[in-house]
Amino acid sequence: MTAYTLKQAGAMLRSKQISAVELAQEYLAAIDVKNPAVNAYITLDQDKTLAEAKAADARIAEGNATALTGVPIAYKDIFCHTGWRTACSSKMLDNFVSPYTATVVQNLLDEGMVTLGRANMDEFAMGSTNETSFYGAAKNPWNTGHVPGGSSGGSAAVVAARLAPAALGSDTGGSIRQPASHCGITGIKPTYGIVSRFGMVAYASSFDQAGPMAQTAEDCAILLNAMAGFDERDSTSLEREKEDYTRELNQPLKGLKIGLPKEYFGTGNSADVQAALQAAVDLLKAQGAEMADVSLPQTELSIPAYYVLASAEASTNLSRYDGVRYGHRAAQFGNLEEMYGNTRAEGFGSEVKRRIMIGTYVLSHGYYDAYYLKAQKLRRLVANDFQTAFAQCDLILAPTAPTTAPKLDTLNHDPVQAYLSDIYTIAANLAGLPALTLPAGFGSDGLPIGVQLIGNHFSEAKILGAAHQMQLVSDWHTRMPV
Ligand code: GLN
Repeated sequence: MTAYTLKQAGAMLRSKQISAVELAQEYLAAIDVKNPAVNAYITLDQDKTLAEAKAADARIAEGNATALTGVPIAYKDIFCHTGWRTACSSKMLDNFVSPYTATVVQNLLDEGMVTLGRANMDEFAMGSTNETSFYGAAKNPWNTGHVPGGSSGGSAAVVAARLAPAALGSDTGGSIRQPASHCGITGIKPTYGIVSRFGMVAYASSFDQAGPMAQTAEDCAILLNAMAGFDERDSTSLEREKEDYTRELNQPLKGLKIGLPKEYFGTGNSADVQAALQAAVDLLKAQGAEMADVSLPQTELSIPAYYVLASAEASTNLSRYDGVRYGHRAAQFGNLEEMYGNTRAEGFGSEVKRRIMIGTYVLSHGYYDAYYLKAQKLRRLVANDFQTAFAQCDLILAPTAPTTAPKLDTLNHDPVQAYLSDIYTIAANLAGLPALTLPAGFGSDGLPIGVQLIGNHFSEAKILGAAHQMQLVSDWHTRMPV
């Protein structure tokens, strides 16, 4: 049974209880059996996986292994990886085999981690259900009639189904935290700028951040240590001293001030989500943490601000897919203009087209001031709210999503409802703040519920420490679908 945490897998490898090749084979066999029902992996290459595992075994034998050497991992289809199809779950890039590797992936390859395959996602990371994927929806391992969340739905599903000890995701407006919540796993979106965006297909560049997804906060801390760091190839990468994100794991919760934003605990949440939040509050209190009432008054503005700005950036970023240099090119066209038009009409799905149209509209002459500039100002107001709140508390406890995972083929018919369901996650992206989801209960439908811990800039170690302390005295993160 492939239920190992990343830490357990690492320990087994170093003590030679199992070889990296055997471990990879165990996972590949489980994937063979279970992946067809969840459609979480969209690209597998057993030869490549086993070659990496063999190299890891050689490194372990030489005695220069790290804590991660030989540990298998899955990558969201958004990360460029030499020799692997990097399609971002789009028809536009279905034929694109990357000639280079994203920095975060390279950092993990340098540790000797073993690539299991590429995880399904919403097309170009636009969506909240994984249903916009060109390769079909990924399913929720707890109930395959429900979505796993999105856009990193495949990454969340492979960890929940125990088809990988960990996975990388990306989070522009909640895409690590919301699927983590819907699948009952842990995931963190770091402070904007501490993890390189080089080689991660761009959606909305001022929001996009990669992050780890795993069973536990401790595993996320270990992975973040390997992922983070300055990268001169990313112009928004922050030049800071290397940090140890595991350093506060053993810090007791006593005296920690947890802010409860009144706008997040209202009528918008299902009764099950409210109950899970209350249980998290009780658990924190029992460990000696103190609760403080705080307010984030601009919460409602974050959705319009995000969907204007993210769409604007998406329309600019996606202009590169024109059929000229790489990716899909229409077979039929009369002239260059038609080639561009037909290529984009055929290559993009409808949600991506909707974002491009919104983005082009809000950036156009005459509307720029009314929409784009206004949204930038709202972004500042949302960010200021958090600074006021963090004067009164160390971390904020929040819901991740207002409900458990919806049924397949429901939310995808109602884009406005889907956008509204991002209410609790997008503010952290607007403000560039680190935020983590950890499992905190189950709904009456049997589906997992996660809660968020949001911190001030560069407080990853504190967030991960608090989440680890909560996981030491609860077992939600150990539950797995049958
Ligand atoms: N659901 C949000 C969107 O569609 C967030 C996606 C993301 O974080 N990549 O934009």
